[in-house]
Amino acid sequence: MEQPPSHIAIVPTPGMGHLIPLGEFAKRLIHHHHFSVTFLVPTDGPLSAAQEAFFESLPDGISHILLPPVNFDDLSEDVKIETRISLTMAQSIPSLREAVRSLVGSIGLVALVVDLFGTDAFEVAREFNLSPYIFFPSTAMALSLFLHLPKLDQAVSCEYRDLPDPVQIPGCVPIHGKYLLDPVQDRSNDAYRWVLHHTKRYRLAEGIMVNSFKELEGGAIKALQEQEPGKPPVYPIGPLINMDSSSGVDGSECLRWLDDQPRGSVLFISFGSGGTLSYDQLNELALGLEMSEQRFLWVVRTPNDKVANASYFSVNSQNDPFAFLPKGFLDRTKGYGLVVPSWAPQAQILSHGSTGGFLTHCGWNSTLESVVHGIPLITWPLYAEQKMNAVMLTEDLRVALKVKVSENSIVGRIEIAKVVKDLMEGKEGKQVRCRMRDLKDAAAKVLSKDGDSTKSLAELAEKWKNRMSN
Ligand code: UDP
Repeated sequence: MEQPPSHIAIVPTPGMGHLIPLGEFAKRLIHHHHFSVTFLVPTDGPLSAAQEAFFESLPDGISHILLPPVNFDDLSEDVKIETRISLTMAQSIPSLREAVRSLVGSIGLVALVVDLFGTDAFEVAREFNLSPYIFFPSTAMALSLFLHLPKLDQAVSCEYRDLPDPVQIPGCVPIHGKYLLDPVQDRSNDAYRWVLHHTKRYRLAEGIMVNSFKELEGGAIKALQEQEPGKPPVYPIGPLINMDSSSGVDGSECLRWLDDQPRGSVLFISFGSGGTLSYDQLNELALGLEMSEQRFLWVVRTPNDKVANASYFSVNSQNDPFAFLPKGFLDRTKGYGLVVPSWAPQAQILSHGSTGGFLTHCGWNSTLESVVHGIPLITWPLYAEQKMNAVMLTEDLRVALKVKVSENSIVGRIEIAKVVKDLMEGKEGKQVRCRMRDLKDAAAKVLSKDGDSTKSLAELAEKWKNRMSN
């Protein structure tokens, strides 16, 4: 008699940037290794349209259960995203426990996989004798920092940004403290305490999957795989990227427009699922693009003068962003620019032959999608670990050009026009394009049948299957 598939529970934290690679991970488990998967989803309110579309699009073999929303009526407005995510998880533990209990009763559950701020769920894994795992949707560099953070916290008493020397994250290019990820920038903030709390618990995991690969982050991956007592094995299984990111929004207009543009001529501009610019910055960007005289496709969001991740939880649900563009901009750029509100099918845009560059906030999914499609970058980091990613892309891998921020914290139109031209037409642009093509080839190789990432995932699947039969 055929064995029923082994089952994996995945507990994601919100935000499309985490859901998308977790979805790809789940698809590989069911298609290549015959597992079945249930997403157990902590929530703090209704899902956004993009999140809903994500869950609806999952294939047979992957189901999802939305846990009852936690109540944040008392939570202060300015609480940081990492605190909000961690609290959502912590307060969802009772309902997670009930959901796991019902799964354990009906199917053979083997492992509980959480993402980077989900380690409180390990408590539930332990109660039901499930293997606790972490899926780290970001870089090996950030993971290396996370595993190192408890030590760094002990060794350093000031803010990391005030350190005179760069921070040496094991296996990585030295990096100035001011570029480390957002929540470690203010050590007195709850967000830092939460990150430290999770990083201390990383060693409780039986394994950590990281969405990266050796040719991209060789040094960090080598350091992560050095054996040390109490350090979980690390499985580089990337690049896992979304091949279809329409997320319920009709993106056919963008793709039709791209069909009519010359090969490699269009700069795509997007700041991820949550990135927002200030009003002044939005204005400068528009004028800079116009000055560059290059073709562009720009996903515009309603500006926000307070935070750079204003739409993280609410993509697609904002005012009309076009109303904030400079007067006459849309008419003046009609011949060579297309502007779309809030969300675009990024995966299809990056794989389209007309796309020749990407001005990006350096979210890790966006970065990996560019690598897979060989699209060179302009880095414009906004929040989370994006400044670290930008350093890696410009100084280590050298597949990107960067924009210089002026003293008033704005990137001016002249600088924007210059860097856009450099990428699309200049000598430097040519060099970064060449290096990106090499990375594209390397990415295809690690994901091929005998590639390193394919083998890494197979090793993990084997481990889980053996656990099931023991
Ligand atoms: N994305 C998209 N259309 C958009 C904006 C984002 O399809 O208009 C997708 C993008 O392809 C990527 C994800 O959303 O897969 C964003 O993840 P990333 O890690 O780049 O940034 P985050 O949103 O987490 O800041």
